[in-house]
Amino acid sequence: MVKPNMYYNELKDSYLFYNIAQKTRTYVENHPGVKLLRMGIGDVSLPLCDAVIKALHEAVDDQASKSSFHGYMPECGAPFLREAIVKYYAKRGISLSAEEIFVSSGASDELGDILDLFDRSNQVLVIEPAYPAYVDANVMAGRKIMYLVSGEENEFLPEPNEKTEADIIYICSPNNPTGAVFSRSQLQAWVNYANKRGSIILFDAAYEAFIEDEILPHSIFELDGAETCAIEICSFSKTAGFTGTRLGYTIIPKALKRNGMNMNEMWVRNRTTKTNGVSYIIQKGGAAVFSEEGQKQIHENIQIYKKNAKVLMQALDQLGIWYCGGKNAPYIWMKCPRGMKSWEFFDYLLQEIQVVGTPGEGFGACGEGYFRFSTFSSPEDTKEAAKRIVKLLS
Ligand SMILES: *Cc1c(COP(=O)(O)O)cnc(C)c1O
Repeated sequence: MVKPNMYYNELKDSYLFYNIAQKTRTYVENHPGVKLLRMGIGDVSLPLCDAVIKALHEAVDDQASKSSFHGYMPECGAPFLREAIVKYYAKRGISLSAEEIFVSSGASDELGDILDLFDRSNQVLVIEPAYPAYVDANVMAGRKIMYLVSGEENEFLPEPNEKTEADIIYICSPNNPTGAVFSRSQLQAWVNYANKRGSIILFDAAYEAFIEDEILPHSIFELDGAETCAIEICSFSKTAGFTGTRLGYTIIPKALKRNGMNMNEMWVRNRTTKTNGVSYIIQKGGAAVFSEEGQKQIHENIQIYKKNAKVLMQALDQLGIWYCGGKNAPYIWMKCPRGMKSWEFFDYLLQEIQVVGTPGEGFGACGEGYFRFSTFSSPEDTKEAAKRIVKLLS
């Protein structure tokens, strides 16, 4: 008889988004015709930019004629896209080769798949509050997880603890849910820790394009020694609106070796075994993101989300409420007023002003008492939500 993967029994129910959906549905049923202002979404709302749409159309046409048709794509990514990414990193002074870049169908896929590189006995370190996928992918694989809690005392940017024996370390910066971004020296401390211990950092850079402070690192490879201890996982989802189009990339330096094994070579072997590459059409769309036009247009879209962030931040400033994020990330992480708990504040906003956000407790116990707003809503809804929040909490 087949033996199922019993580690699935150890997964905790991911009640967060389910609970939010249940509570909002009940509210709408009891208040027909009411319009909710959804400030909780982790999905983009603006469409793909013109440069991408044009490239996608052209690529579809390529597939229509024998001379320009593409069949199977190279498993690790189309050379034209890998080269475009090399140039994008070179602008920031990071020197990579095309073979160090692996095109993927998205960061979530990679965050799960990449674990194929590691033995089950590795200890995983997750910084809480955390993006739930890091935890679940490792639980499914039967790995032990340690949690490093963060809080206001370190602005949700904890330092490595030398006594912790972490093998695989997840770092998400700019962070979802807190919007906090590690400074160069803070990130360098993690790189040093990983090199000293022989650990590997899985660096989730899904929000790098939202960074506006010049001095903050966009990539872990801006730090000394990262090429011997880090894998960077990137996505086109939030930066270029590809959430429904699906595209990402992963950087595994050739210098990343453990126990005589070269992680880059291992990943080539993995991809050539387990994938047949990402769609030619989508990769063409992705390459257009790195064109001059594409960069200009995606940043125009990002600016719209950033204006939303400003509106929400001004409201919280006016109220004197503690928060982090917003400036270099599309999330604002606020302290619930009057000592309210996360879900209590969720209910309060829903009932009183029909604003929906995300309770911080859903990202880990240390998120209790905090609340996440996303800036991906429309400018109109965001302005209205901010106005109502100020009125309610003044
Ligand atoms: C949205 C998000 C992703 C998702 O990436 P996809 O490329 O859409 O799979 C990855 N990491 C974090 C932290 C995210 O918030």
